[in-house]
Amino acid sequence: MPVQMTQRQYEQLVGDQALLETDLSLQVVGFLQARGWHPYRMARIVVPALQLFSGEPGVADYQFRYYLHPEAAAGAGLLLWIEFKRESDRRTCQCLKIARSKSGRRCTVCDQKNWREREEKYGGRVWQIRTFQEFATLYQKYYGWLHKPETAVRGQLALPNAK
Ligand SMILES: [Zn+2]
Repeated sequence: MPVQMTQRQYEQLVGDQALLETDLSLQVVGFLQARGWHPYRMARIVVPALQLFSGEPGVADYQFRYYLHPEAAAGAGLLLWIEFKRESDRRTCQCLKIARSKSGRRCTVCDQKNWREREEKYGGRVWQIRTFQEFATLYQKYYGWLHKPETAVRGQLALPNAK
């Protein structure tokens, strides 16, 4: 008799809940790399003792770059940002809590929202991805043209095993 596992049971089995997010990001990174995109893992790093501040607060998890035509137009390309979310992630603003305990910092939820809104205002594309299916649907809609013979710029050349 097949045993149906609840999401919670699955997470307990897998152990660290972050693993689920990692599984998804590995799948998406692999998918995009196979299609000629270059992934860049982004992070906000703060080490006050070393006066080290790197990255932007709320920055998306990954930046992906796709160079359209390396031979004819070096540097011309597409840029896609992805923030990976666990399906069950329903975190809400914690600014009030933080303000009560520490200095007037913003919470992660607000940092991410502010970063995303600013980037979109510049004209950037930022996706929040919870499932591979959600990602694949968006990819087909916005970038499917890269890999169709009639509209490909160099998409066909970037496919693995392409001859
Ligand atoms: Zn907040």
